[in-house]
Amino acid sequence: MNNTDAVKRWEETSNKFCVRCILRHLCFDWIWVLRNESEITEHLKETFPEFLQHAVAGADSIDNANHQLKRQGSCHCCLGILESNFLQPCLKHIVDALSKESYQFATYQPQYFLPVQLQVFGLYSMKYFEEKYSDVLKKHNPTDVKEVFKALMEPILIEGINQERDPNGVLEISLHLKHVSTETNFLTHVSSKCNEKKTFNRKRPKNDEPTFTLARIRSAMLNLNDSELEKLCSIDLEPSVVGNVQLFHTAVFVGGRYNKYSRELPQTPWLVEGERKLVSSVQEYISTPIQKAFGADSYNFSTSGREDVDVRMLGNGRPFLIELINARQSKMDATQLTEISHQINGQNNDVSVHSLKVVSKSDCKKLKEGEEEKTKSYSAVCCFIYPPSPDSISKLEDLSKITNLELKQKTPIRVLHRRPLATRSRYVHAIKAERNSNDSRVFKLLLSTQAGTYVKEFVHGDFGRTTPSLGDLLSAEVDIIDLDVESVNLQWPPT
Ligand SMILES: [Zn+2]
Repeated sequence: MNNTDAVKRWEETSNKFCVRCILRHLCFDWIWVLRNESEITEHLKETFPEFLQHAVAGADSIDNANHQLKRQGSCHCCLGILESNFLQPCLKHIVDALSKESYQFATYQPQYFLPVQLQVFGLYSMKYFEEKYSDVLKKHNPTDVKEVFKALMEPILIEGINQERDPNGVLEISLHLKHVSTETNFLTHVSSKCNEKKTFNRKRPKNDEPTFTLARIRSAMLNLNDSELEKLCSIDLEPSVVGNVQLFHTAVFVGGRYNKYSRELPQTPWLVEGERKLVSSVQEYISTPIQKAFGADSYNFSTSGREDVDVRMLGNGRPFLIELINARQSKMDATQLTEISHQINGQNNDVSVHSLKVVSKSDCKKLKEGEEEKTKSYSAVCCFIYPPSPDSISKLEDLSKITNLELKQKTPIRVLHRRPLATRSRYVHAIKAERNSNDSRVFKLLLSTQAGTYVKEFVHGDFGRTTPSLGDLLSAEVDIIDLDVESVNLQWPPT
């Protein structure tokens, strides 16, 4: 090839493609693609074939070289996203999004979603270079556009965001790039090439907007012939890539313990056919102020076991965990957490919390660990339905001699609508009665049981479905008036 032909070829190529894409397709070491532009120019002068030396001679930078060649529109390979003047606006999109949302974060992980059209332009540029540069291309294995874009953005982000980048970073920064001017027509044409039967979900409703997934685009490309590809891609390309930034904070977990002093408050919102039965719930009293303080979009509330609406939770309280979704704040010091506790505890006399702590994801599983083996302590106010016989009174006083009493409990009638019918074995570890000096029929029962024991059913027997029942032990008919959980023995939140 003579010098004039070489210059012509270079002019045509650099009118279509940006310098970084040319370097990629001519298989320069990809580190060179990332160097600053004057370094690239020097390198080209030393190592590149004559046609490129000629083109960049006298230019101070690749940008100047491009300018001299009057390339118009966007690159027909990367759609302009690898060009230097596109990178800073990307940073601005991200910085603007961050300043709107006031996330507090120590580490972040960027994610990039590039226009799907890049797949087709990638194919077009592959064919172009293989045809026009067969004399200089020994191999043709260009570095991936996305990898180069990521590498170019890296130092810009580090300088612009001034926080630590980390593959496990707490803030996911997603930059979605779209090339608007080609999107509709281009993708509609490509989508007509899709093999509908293979790529469409049969359940997709009719007349729905088609979605352009990578898989669909790749499938369509297999059906594009060379002239169709040329017609589609050899067009003037507006520099119209726009960025949309989405921010998402990984889950933040807050652990603590709660007490409940009401016999009319459910643990979780009580809804029957979508209609609320009681004004609030333990979950809402606790979670709403915490969600607000952390600026989260939503939350999930979980606990170690649960108590019935009419059962109080006393003693050291029940362990709970709140998973905060997309929290703006991930850390709180002890003073701030104490303030949140005061706020929750000041709402009413029904619910209080203590020991609030931000816990790690790995700590969360400890809440549910050993749930079956745990011991729980209860106190119950019980009564003899008829005046007790001396025999029953004597048996009442001897209850404290019983240890590790095995119960067989059929699923209680009151929960049969939501639990499967089964007979389960549970243990009452210790039991003790304290008689009421004012009323011979009333006594207080203190007991410690294996987690999951149905205490109410143990007392009244649930029509013979729990054996032995307290009534069996006392040879009398007994019932339960009030029940309180005195302790849930779990080390929580973890230290
Ligand atoms: Zn390019």
